[in-house]
Amino acid sequence: MIKTIKGLHHITSLASDAVSNNAFFTDVLGLRRVKKTVNFDEPSVYHLYYGDELGHPGSVMTYFPFPGIRQGHTGFGEVGTTAFSVPVGSLNFWRERFSGKKVTGLKDDERFGEKRLHFSGPDNDAFVLVETKDDARKPWAGEVDANRAIRGFHSASLRLRDDGATSELLKFMGYQQVDAKDNLKRFAIPEGNGANLIDIETFPSASHADQGAGSVHHIAFAVENRAKQLEVRQALVDTGYAVTPVIDRDYFWAIYFRTPGGVLFEVATNEPGFNRDEDTAHLGEALKLPAQHERLRTFLEKHLQPLPS
Ligand code: ZN
Repeated sequence: MIKTIKGLHHITSLASDAVSNNAFFTDVLGLRRVKKTVNFDEPSVYHLYYGDELGHPGSVMTYFPFPGIRQGHTGFGEVGTTAFSVPVGSLNFWRERFSGKKVTGLKDDERFGEKRLHFSGPDNDAFVLVETKDDARKPWAGEVDANRAIRGFHSASLRLRDDGATSELLKFMGYQQVDAKDNLKRFAIPEGNGANLIDIETFPSASHADQGAGSVHHIAFAVENRAKQLEVRQALVDTGYAVTPVIDRDYFWAIYFRTPGGVLFEVATNEPGFNRDEDTAHLGEALKLPAQHERLRTFLEKHLQPLPS
């Protein structure tokens, strides 16, 4: 069994427009844009990262905004809802804030004793804020004051047709089942980074998810460093998973594998982090390109939509 996963690292989704995406995550949710770069595999498209001050693992929501791509359709084999942690007592503030900023999909509910507020992202992305006790993570106090600001991810749900093999995989990755109700199972990683929970939601008769704007592309789990990542990779390969080689993403190293339930998993390192090429005070302001795409800079600076710094 793997014992070095520390919770979530980042979640990456698809968007249809960089400008509205950037405005939503910075102005509405109050996250910090910690990196403005491009999709390393498709450099004509941005890769935007939003998180806490430094983009600590467990706080980072990232987007590939492909201009004008069609909407995704929900189904099985994907991340269903992405949940952010907020302080107990803050949901009234958030409900009013969202209403004032014309955010749609607002709905209150409760799961395993925690109050939640559902809301939709700019491409109808499924999000929820969860009032979480004792979340010691320091928030980015940008547009939202620190008493109410998002702490990072609370959890993410995996929407599956059958939970069996993915439950086994999560246990192999060090997660423990901590709760269950109806079609829902909750898993937690002990001693994680704060983004410690995964929910599996089972819908036996769902149709297959069709990825597009508003869909999660992949979900990444955190390991401390490259040595631990190689151990995780070997353990997964030994269990029969087809895992990519280690890929340098400039701000972390990544490996990817498709899970039995259809969701694309990544395991990413905490090192070197988002301040490797910008100082902390100016994180996310300049267009950063990986060395292999630096020759495209003049073209990309003209081609990519300007975003406020
Ligand atoms: Zn990723």
